[in-house]
Amino acid sequence: MNSKETERAEPVNFIQAIIDKDRESNRYGGRVHLRFPPEPNGYLHIGHAKSICLNFGLAAKNNGLCNLRFDDTNPAKEEIEYIESIIRDVHWLGFDWEDRLYYASDYFERMYQDALTLVKEGKAYVCDLSAEEIREYRGTFTKPGKESPYRNRSIEENLTLFQQMREGKFEDGSRVLRAKIDMNSPNLNMRDPVIYRILREAHPRTGDDWCIYPMYDYAHPLEDYYEGITHSVCTLEFEDHRPLYEWVLDNIHAIEPPQQIEFARLNLSKTIMSKRKLRFLIENGYVSEWDDPRLPTISGLRRRGYTPEAIRNFCDRIGVAKTNSIVDVRFLEHCIREDLNKRAMRAMAVLNPLKLIIDNYPEDLIEEMDSENNPEDPAAGIRKVPFSKELYIEREDFNEEPPPKYYRLAPGREVRLKNAYIVKCTDFVRDEKTGEIREIHCIYDPDTRSGRPGAQRKVKSTLHWVSARFAHKAEVRLYDYLLLDSIEEEETEEEGDRDFVRLLNPKSLEILKDSLIEPGLKNMAAGEKIQFMRKGYFCVDPDSTPDNPVFNRIVSLKDSWEKIQKKN
Ligand code: ATP
Ligand code: MG
Repeated sequence: MNSKETERAEPVNFIQAIIDKDRESNRYGGRVHLRFPPEPNGYLHIGHAKSICLNFGLAAKNNGLCNLRFDDTNPAKEEIEYIESIIRDVHWLGFDWEDRLYYASDYFERMYQDALTLVKEGKAYVCDLSAEEIREYRGTFTKPGKESPYRNRSIEENLTLFQQMREGKFEDGSRVLRAKIDMNSPNLNMRDPVIYRILREAHPRTGDDWCIYPMYDYAHPLEDYYEGITHSVCTLEFEDHRPLYEWVLDNIHAIEPPQQIEFARLNLSKTIMSKRKLRFLIENGYVSEWDDPRLPTISGLRRRGYTPEAIRNFCDRIGVAKTNSIVDVRFLEHCIREDLNKRAMRAMAVLNPLKLIIDNYPEDLIEEMDSENNPEDPAAGIRKVPFSKELYIEREDFNEEPPPKYYRLAPGREVRLKNAYIVKCTDFVRDEKTGEIREIHCIYDPDTRSGRPGAQRKVKSTLHWVSARFAHKAEVRLYDYLLLDSIEEEETEEEGDRDFVRLLNPKSLEILKDSLIEPGLKNMAAGEKIQFMRKGYFCVDPDSTPDNPVFNRIVSLKDSWEKIQKKN
């Protein structure tokens, strides 16, 4: 994706075009019904958000419906915790399925009945080959498949065996039910795919009711069909499975079957998206949990401070494509900046404090400085910030030997303290042991108070500050990308792919324990957002308490995306 595409107000959506055509020809009686079908085997991520926005968005735009459906056909990997997190995340993103929350597992009986139909019509057979033999017999792209010796079992024998599979007469993995299609098909998915397997594994919802489970490629079209789905939108890796999707529906004699439409999945630069890799990072302690603010999971983004509005806006603006690409993660950051710029209050926090003493400021004087809460929103009003003789400024805002183009504080230099006075640096004191600068001394010019006559005098730099007497201590967590570089994520990955581990950024989290915030901020509630002037947008972490407020940096203020766009 280049910057021009993200700028287009209304990206051309080829799926909408298909829907338009179907409505014109009155296919499905004009109905539009979509679904979002997560497998509850992990938490949702920003890629899923794209799919959610697309499906619920298309439904809303076309006066249609969108279901939430758990594709829970693989009990080995699925858990209630994931189901709950998915429900929470889709709601949080702002979408609603009304009373249409479904589970594939609710259809197990009906799926079984449909499989019996296939068997009775000679379209499916029980196969005794081992998993390995099936793979061997299947052939490759260049080598045709070989028919299973069990392929021509009689319908009666198949019926008996399949029923016995269900009754638990056979061991796990000893037999499968396969669709009888074509071992010579150029499409490997059509070479008699397995549609049922024996698996003794308690299912989170059906418990031990079943010891056979349908395979995804068989179950998915049926789930869509049973729910009256019209447009089954999925990602590109399923393109080669589409003939099987259609075969299943055709052979159970579906009336007005749904159609499968593929789009390119979202990949983000410097971001790990695959659930498998995310799980690996969590299980091996590289990150804390599914909601670690460095992860692209919905819960991680929420904890970091992303808003549903920014995520939806991002998903709309990247559009829908038919070829895979990598979206620049800086565009996502641009979207949250844009949102918070309008809404977030401004305040001052000093992340790495350095003491500043104004030698000519009266010892006990405290002045209340008027500060705009949000220059983008006059209705946000102003607040009073206490100013006193001893302050803290950012350590990086003082330089003993300023390099060229460094306009902040240095010996003999003047700067403005935001909403307060112009001060001039007269001296600084070093720690005798460490050599580190411990404090700086200034004098202020009483005639330069902001908002007063005389304040017009210009200096090159304005610094943020907090009053030493009134500031509160806070913990600040700064994040960087998890990966040093972008990786190509395959849709069908090897379980053991750990190559990405060497690309992990060792500095993706920096914790500052001695930051200082304006008084009045220590009681902010978890999830509240704020702009710390010059330092970025921050969000109060759930770990926060009034005694130890904790702020996550969402993004810094420097919008490199805008810069890239200006260049193009
Ligand atoms: P992962 O590949 O990360 O393990 P998944 O595809 O297994 O995810 P599902 O629960 O099967 O996750 O996905 C639910 C829906 O979300 C599917 O329709 C899937 O196509 C879609 N989806 C998953 N990842 C992305 C992505 N990166 N971009 C767009 N849609 C996605
Ligand atoms: Mg998948």
